[in-house]
Amino acid sequence: MRRPVIAGNWKCHTRLESARALAAGLRERVDALDGIEKVVCPPFVYLSAVREALAASSIRLGSQDVHWEDDVAATGEVGPQMVAELADYAVIGHSERRHQFGETDEMVNRKVKAALAAGLKPIMCVGETLEERQADLTEQVLMRQTRSGLAGVELPDGFIIAYEPVWAIGTGTPATGEDAASASAAIRQEVAAMFGPDKAETIRILYGGSVTPENIAEFMSQANIDGALVGGASLRVDAFSSIVEEAARVKAGAR
Ligand code: PEP
Repeated sequence: MRRPVIAGNWKCHTRLESARALAAGLRERVDALDGIEKVVCPPFVYLSAVREALAASSIRLGSQDVHWEDDVAATGEVGPQMVAELADYAVIGHSERRHQFGETDEMVNRKVKAALAAGLKPIMCVGETLEERQADLTEQVLMRQTRSGLAGVELPDGFIIAYEPVWAIGTGTPATGEDAASASAAIRQEVAAMFGPDKAETIRILYGGSVTPENIAEFMSQANIDGALVGGASLRVDAFSSIVEEAARVKAGAR
């Protein structure tokens, strides 16, 4: 049985006090909820403060990116061992990093390897643009990003891949449950081709793109989808908590 995960990506939002308040509010609402991994990914500069606010709680911490090396001349970057001192997870290859900051498949691969070596759990993001979907290239893109991102990786059980169609991120237009499920199936198939079907059965695939409390059930009810990566709605205690609660309810019912 794959353990579901709901991760909140705070992106370049919050300030010190609002980050603390958001963490405290979430702690109050979902700390006691079992059977689901809850992760928040604040900006790097607030990792310490949010870690303090979540100390001894069941809510885990992730970074939104990670560099592929520590102890190098790489101004502005944050190394994997640094992140691992504060957090358990690292989002890698988010579409905003790929499309706004020129991150390549090869960079994603280096980051995944370095994060694993530092003891972090990567949340590796893949997803097609609208143009790629319209040109019927979705599967091809997902296969390429999965294959390149995981090349030469010693894949741990439970590894997390987030399927995030670029056109659905922050747009209010989510994929349908059916489309997200078929994309997730293609990703799992690619992992099976690389690492064998048994390993592929253990990996967790999250859907991301305009997830809300109202639509989360549609995604969680798909057998191939094990959770969600949530952007906008993760900035509101009530919305993110409702997503976590609903996701746990749907997956518990499916067992
Ligand atoms: C994201 O940032 O990964 C994301 C899916 O954002 P949103 O939920 O706002 O679409």
